[in-house]
Amino acid sequence: MVIVLLGPPGAGKGTQCKRVAEKYKLVHLSSGDILRGHRTNGTELGKKAAEYMDSGKLVPDQLIIEMMAGAIESAKGNCVLDGFPRTVVHGQELDKALAAKGRKIDAIVNLVIDDSVIEKRMTGRRSCPACGAVYHIDTLKPKVEGFCDKCSSKLVQRTDDKPEVVKQRLEIYHQQTAAVVGYYAGKNHKILDVDAEKSVDEVTALVVAKLDGFKAV
Ligand code: ADP
Ligand code: AMP
Repeated sequence: MVIVLLGPPGAGKGTQCKRVAEKYKLVHLSSGDILRGHRTNGTELGKKAAEYMDSGKLVPDQLIIEMMAGAIESAKGNCVLDGFPRTVVHGQELDKALAAKGRKIDAIVNLVIDDSVIEKRMTGRRSCPACGAVYHIDTLKPKVEGFCDKCSSKLVQRTDDKPEVVKQRLEIYHQQTAAVVGYYAGKNHKILDVDAEKSVDEVTALVVAKLDGFKAV
């Protein structure tokens, strides 16, 4: 089963995808997390992606498409996609790659949220560089301020969560990523819109209700 979670950066895709993956026994494939892993490991891909990521731009299509096609294959097509597809070209290439393996997207959830809410989410995000857990300085505080609940590592603010880069990422979302919703609607995919401005637990309940109520799942 392939589930896609769409939405702007900071909408809560990663937070919700972790829960969806656990509930439906899927592999959570976050293109951002995979890229950050490449950077940590100093791979060629990580080195090529770094300048794009730090300036809030999209990493070039051919690098991302190959990376994600490989990840989906490794997950044997049982995955929830987070951060990919991020352009219409990604959507087209994903459809082709899935069709070549006799697979398809089973459900698309779209997290709907206003830019004014997103800015606070991204600038307040704190991430664990060791285990990938994600917190927020106001809405999802760790038990001990500044340290990860799961592995006790010191939390960091992502370079691309600084206010000036957040602005650029939101612009890129509106210029290049928002159109992905229209691409899938045009292909007669049902888009499961969810109000992502509610609390984390409320959003999870809405996502699960939509997925459970959707006949393909
Ligand atoms: P994305 O993966 O879409 O970039 P994240 O899941 O990392 O977004 O969430 C962005 C920030 O907002 C994180 O700090 C997270 O803890 C927080 N967050 C996520 N969902 C909510 C929510 N429903 N309400 C309040 N804060 C949230
Ligand atoms: P994210 O963790 O999803 O917020 O992504 C962090 C950064 O990684 C983005 O700002 C991009 O630079 C890069 N990135 C992640 N996913 C993609 C993608 N599908 N296409 C292009 N760049 C991506």
